[in-house]
Amino acid sequence: MSISAQLARVRASIAEAAHSSGRDPASVCLLAVSKTFGPEAVIEAADAGQREFGENYVQEAIDKIASVNAARPDLSLIWHFIGPLQSNKTRVVAEQIDWVHSVDRVKIAQRLSDQRPPHLPPLNICLQVNVSGEDSKSGVAPEALLALASEVAGLPRLRLRGLMAIPEPAEDPEAQRRPFALLRTLQQQLHAAGIPTDTLSMGMSADMTAAIAEGATVVRIGTAIFGKRDYDQ
Ligand SMILES: *Cc1c(COP(=O)(O)O)cnc(C)c1O
Repeated sequence: MSISAQLARVRASIAEAAHSSGRDPASVCLLAVSKTFGPEAVIEAADAGQREFGENYVQEAIDKIASVNAARPDLSLIWHFIGPLQSNKTRVVAEQIDWVHSVDRVKIAQRLSDQRPPHLPPLNICLQVNVSGEDSKSGVAPEALLALASEVAGLPRLRLRGLMAIPEPAEDPEAQRRPFALLRTLQQQLHAAGIPTDTLSMGMSADMTAAIAEGATVVRIGTAIFGKRDYDQ
């Protein structure tokens, strides 16, 4: 199936999931995760009306943005960085990306704020939370979230938008919902502590229905739009 046909299917699934939880489909933003796919795939999706794109690897993202801009300066796309970010790679992200979903340490946030160019609007930030409690997963522990959020909210060149999570894969829809419900509860705790946010970045191809039922405002979808990834390329 073509990218535009897959996009249409994903949009229809989002609308259906939103309606069945009594939500407005327009309250769920579709982020197309284009990692491992080339600039042509991004352009094809953009020509089908997609504006927001997510990338996981810094060099790949920067190269792809340059290729897309060179080929199609008419497209004004919004780029989200959703992968692990090391401190020696923050500068290009601060300079060229609109959103970072994977901040889980003050040090990274501080660097992004220091490096965000003054002519650009503040960089949009989501804090990645470890909702599955696995040692191997990145993300701030739920107990440490409030302290991190308070610090990030005070950084001048960042705008704290919300929370992001990548739960352990689960098959059954009830099991899928639990970590998303936890992320929503954590967001409510931030709000109660006087830290307002508007974004819950949660849900991927396999669990976006559960995420939308729990209040996702951004779903990050790769496979269902672009097909299976081939990491050997
Ligand atoms: C790859 C990736 C996605 C997209 O996953 P799919 O299962 O292909 O939809 C979403 N979020 C993050 C953080 C990813 O790394």
